[in-house]
Amino acid sequence: MTTTTSEQAQRERDVVGAVPTDLLIGGQRVEGGDGLRVEVVDPATEEVLTSVADGTAEDGRRALAAAAAAQGEWGRTPPRERGEVLRRAWELIAERTEDLALLMTLEMGKSLAESRGEIAYASEFFRWFSEEAVRIDGRWSTSPDGQTRLLTMRQPVGPCLFVTPWNFPMAMGTRKIGPAIAAGCTMVVKPASQTPLTMSALAEVLTEAGLPPGVLNVVTTSRTGEVVEPLVRDGRLRKLSFTGSTPVGRLLVEQSAQQLLRTSMELGGNAPFVVFDDADLDAAVDGAMLAKMRNMGEACTSANRFHVQRGVLEDFTARLTERMGSLVVGRGTEEGVDVGPLIEERQRRRVEELVADAVDGGAQVRTGGERVGERGYFYAPTVLADVPASARLLREEVFGPVAPVVAFDTEADALAQANDTEFGLVSYVWTRDVGRALRVSEGLETGMVGLNQGVVSNPAAPFGGVKQSGFGREGGREGIEEYLETKYVGMTL
Ligand code: NAP
Repeated sequence: MTTTTSEQAQRERDVVGAVPTDLLIGGQRVEGGDGLRVEVVDPATEEVLTSVADGTAEDGRRALAAAAAAQGEWGRTPPRERGEVLRRAWELIAERTEDLALLMTLEMGKSLAESRGEIAYASEFFRWFSEEAVRIDGRWSTSPDGQTRLLTMRQPVGPCLFVTPWNFPMAMGTRKIGPAIAAGCTMVVKPASQTPLTMSALAEVLTEAGLPPGVLNVVTTSRTGEVVEPLVRDGRLRKLSFTGSTPVGRLLVEQSAQQLLRTSMELGGNAPFVVFDDADLDAAVDGAMLAKMRNMGEACTSANRFHVQRGVLEDFTARLTERMGSLVVGRGTEEGVDVGPLIEERQRRRVEELVADAVDGGAQVRTGGERVGERGYFYAPTVLADVPASARLLREEVFGPVAPVVAFDTEADALAQANDTEFGLVSYVWTRDVGRALRVSEGLETGMVGLNQGVVSNPAAPFGGVKQSGFGREGGREGIEEYLETKYVGMTL
């Protein structure tokens, strides 16, 4: 499973070795305060790739001080200049895609093709927001009684804190960093402990693209709560944007309530994938593979459960099984590999537990259902049929390559099953009936709907959830709103 030639191994060492592993504070690379380090592990081999600085609470405060010091001047920098930093960064990322993709695959596990896909998607947020920077505007109007003039202006919200997850190490950062730079905000970024290298490499790109010192500060740490909580409670911080699990999101909202901090929360999902009898089944199976297997199922937008109308249930399940069973599992750096390892052993055990719970309740394993290989956290692409309504898999986010299939009879059943969750990020619907498509889209309690498509992520669209999937939107015209305050000036002429 890990047939790395010496030439390839050298290239991997070179790519990892080129990334700074210290903190970035006020434009300087500095060691963490007490000199401790956090190891970064390749989930395909379980070997240590390198280590990064293990930032302390004091490092966090210094980073916020640097962001606060840079805020005034950065906020006054002309929008065109801010946009051009993003535009140059977008170009540099495109030039360096191969090295960045290898780096991402090494620390996160996904195949090189998936890493290239994420990098293209991630950098598009820089291009999109480079174009939005110059479109920030206000309003001029007359009050209804004609006595006053109302001037409305948009201003940067101020220093921000970004806490990001490991599953999309670059894109979950650029969705926040892009609009923040465009709006004129400074920031501290705390990447996930498992995948700090991609963020460090991204910071280098932004520096090279001309981002002034202190605008973007990066603090890696394994003492996450100790570093983040004091920042969330610090009056210099004006905005928190978090992407990660719902329990951590809830905790951060509680902490932020103290100073009524503005927050955006991109949290967990439990996406239903609904296939009606009248769907184009070939397209639905293609869409299912994308919705389920993008990022090995480790995406908040992953189809977590498949609800299929009884007339096409067996046909759909058989086709999905065939496609899932033919995927190649292996180290993401190797040619021809479709599915890399899960991020860590804890995550693989969770997937096993959820599958075992469904099988104990009567689900049938059509393909997969087991670990793969001796080293690395691999798990086979899995399809489960006849999954009982009581299965935890239908209620909890599996975050792995497992597709549970359940039947429904009527449109009303489909909606009831789809909405039977506390989450509300995204849902997928397959039907050729336009009326049904719109009725069901209206009835789904999610922030996004994929209608006859298996991917919704798009830098030009507002990404985000409802219910326990959080609030706030990333991307689209809405994305920059998260980083702007509205000020109104009343004038008597
Ligand atoms: P997680 O445990 O919540 O971690 C996400 C980030 O939060 C990491 O940087 C983590 O740091 C940090 N964190 C952990 N505990 C913290 C604390 N007490 N205080 C402050 N920060 C803390 O989530 P995960 O399991 O890594 O990521 C997967 C989750 O993210 C899934 O639920 C997925 O659905 C969600 N997700 C959502 C979206 C979306 O846009 N809605 C996108 C991608 C992922 P450490 O790494 O140092 O622990």
